[in-house]
Amino acid sequence: MSDHANTGYDEWLDAVAEGESYYLECENGHGSLPPRRVCPRCGATDLEETTLPETGEIETYTVVHVAAPSFADDVPYTTAIADFGPVRLTGVANDDVGVGTKVAAAVGETETAGERLLLFERR
Ligand SMILES: [Zn+2]
Repeated sequence: MSDHANTGYDEWLDAVAEGESYYLECENGHGSLPPRRVCPRCGATDLEETTLPETGEIETYTVVHVAAPSFADDVPYTTAIADFGPVRLTGVANDDVGVGTKVAAAVGETETAGERLLLFERR
């Protein structure tokens, strides 16, 4: 199953899995993630792939106890937003994270469906 709208994000996950994480930076220094053709903050169309900082910091997190069927075997799990400086990433974290925990971006799989997702690993 491939969803064209997600193609850019899948390729981005490939890059993260290979240790080549990047984000898109516009001429004004705003960061965003694929798929993007336009900066979400200023509308600039010249976006450049820029190396993602290795470490981010958990900004907020939520423990999910009841999930959609495709995540049924994964509960409880923790979704988190991590601040990587120019960009914020949303992913799944180990359950021992808290606000301010230093993490690196990696790629994991859901237990239920084996779908790839962004995973935050403690640093
Ligand atoms: Zn911008």
